[in-house]
Amino acid sequence: MEMKLYNTMTKKKEEFVPVEPGKVKMYVCGPTVYNFIHIGNARPMIVFDTVRRYMEHKGYEVNYVSNFTDVDDKIIAKAIEEGVSAREISERYIKECKKDMADMNVKPATTHPLATEEIDGMIEMISELIRKGYAYDVNGTVYFRTKKFKEYGKLSHKNLDDLRSGNRSLLVSGEDQKEDPLDFVLWKPKKEGEPFWVSPWSEGRPGWHIECSVMAKKYLGEEIDIHAGGEDLIFPHHENEIAQSECCNEKPFARYWLHNGFLNIDNKKMSKSLGNFFTVREIADKYDLQVLRFFMLSAHYRSPLNFSAELMEASKNGLERIINGVDHLKHLIGAAQEKEMTEEEKKHIEEMNGLAAKFDDAMDDDFNTADAVSAIFEIIKLANTTASSDSAKSYLQALKDKTAELSDILGLIVEKEEEMLDEEIEQMIEARQAARKARDFQKADEIRNALLAKGIILEDTREGVKWKRA
Ligand code: AMP
Ligand code: ZN
Repeated sequence: MEMKLYNTMTKKKEEFVPVEPGKVKMYVCGPTVYNFIHIGNARPMIVFDTVRRYMEHKGYEVNYVSNFTDVDDKIIAKAIEEGVSAREISERYIKECKKDMADMNVKPATTHPLATEEIDGMIEMISELIRKGYAYDVNGTVYFRTKKFKEYGKLSHKNLDDLRSGNRSLLVSGEDQKEDPLDFVLWKPKKEGEPFWVSPWSEGRPGWHIECSVMAKKYLGEEIDIHAGGEDLIFPHHENEIAQSECCNEKPFARYWLHNGFLNIDNKKMSKSLGNFFTVREIADKYDLQVLRFFMLSAHYRSPLNFSAELMEASKNGLERIINGVDHLKHLIGAAQEKEMTEEEKKHIEEMNGLAAKFDDAMDDDFNTADAVSAIFEIIKLANTTASSDSAKSYLQALKDKTAELSDILGLIVEKEEEMLDEEIEQMIEARQAARKARDFQKADEIRNALLAKGIILEDTREGVKWKRA
């Protein structure tokens, strides 16, 4: 079946036809890095990683680009608060974000560009927009001239006149140098103490929207297949990206615009001031982040999703049902006989293949991960009711492999890691001691972390290194 995805631009499910056959060029707006990521930020990471994995399963070669916004007012404010450089803040939280991503089994992007490393490209695109009459400089601030782009508003389907009158008050509050209330900043002069770059207009820094237009063009090309992010980005961020890119490149920017719904907590908007705000790291204290991933995939990506303790417990149980099913099959396989499948087993394999087709149908229908998960549950049910110590080995293996394969498309790890043997642990501790002796503390830390990842906790005592299983 062909793949259909819901395009925010046309408000319809459309058949996926890539710009270049067999290839997918995909851009997902990434986080602003001034803190640990919160569980709302985790939603686009997980759902669009799943889109990528499914596309790869379909045989596409996916070029996946996701940026880190590493220059921004919030980063600067945090740097001032801590008395360190903005760079120190952004580098710290990019590292922490990548750790959370790995723990959620989100694949690293093909490229993770940083805004601060793409300033030249931004200056170039802004210059081109000025040359073409789509942007203007007022005392060192450059604005995009929204009235000149006739299609402005086509993504968000907003009534621009209403917006203009609604935003007119902004003009009074210091932005009265703009020609139009909807014009937005491409470049702004620095304030005292802020990081800055030299440009033809002022010593300053870029506005937020221009970075994505520039990075998408540099790493994916002028016309891309999929552009994605949370639904709060539709306006103004993505609308402005379209304006910049299409006016500069004179080509349609992205074919399909995908937006995830918002994550709420106990049916309320997540916010620091309401005290219902969780970082991914806080969730990791209590749960394996695979559970968070499973939870995110239990709803359709475009629907609002409510987070609560009960729903997390239900997700933990759901994921365990699959893991235990696979574990049971593994044990049976260990003792099973190599023999022909019975006619009945062959029929069950057909049933299993039918469920795998159901999985694909669900995913082809705008990535219905909830139904895809149900198809996996049905395979587990088939296994639980038909597999036994009498089953043919090939039958058990087929059930286990199919469950693992489909789970992997959703980015769910369902095979329990083999426990480390005492002997292996002791060898690694010795290697760590040797690294420390050689003053290679980085290597020593790496070994310690590798052990920790396998649930082995080290304790340095006067009598030497002691270890225990978590
Ligand atoms: P930000 O760092 O705020 O630019 O957000 C990074 C990404 O997370 C964007 O795609 C946002 O749309 C998305 N996002 C932020 N908060 C939520 C939320 N509560 N639910 C779902 N997505 C969110
Ligand atoms: Zn963006």
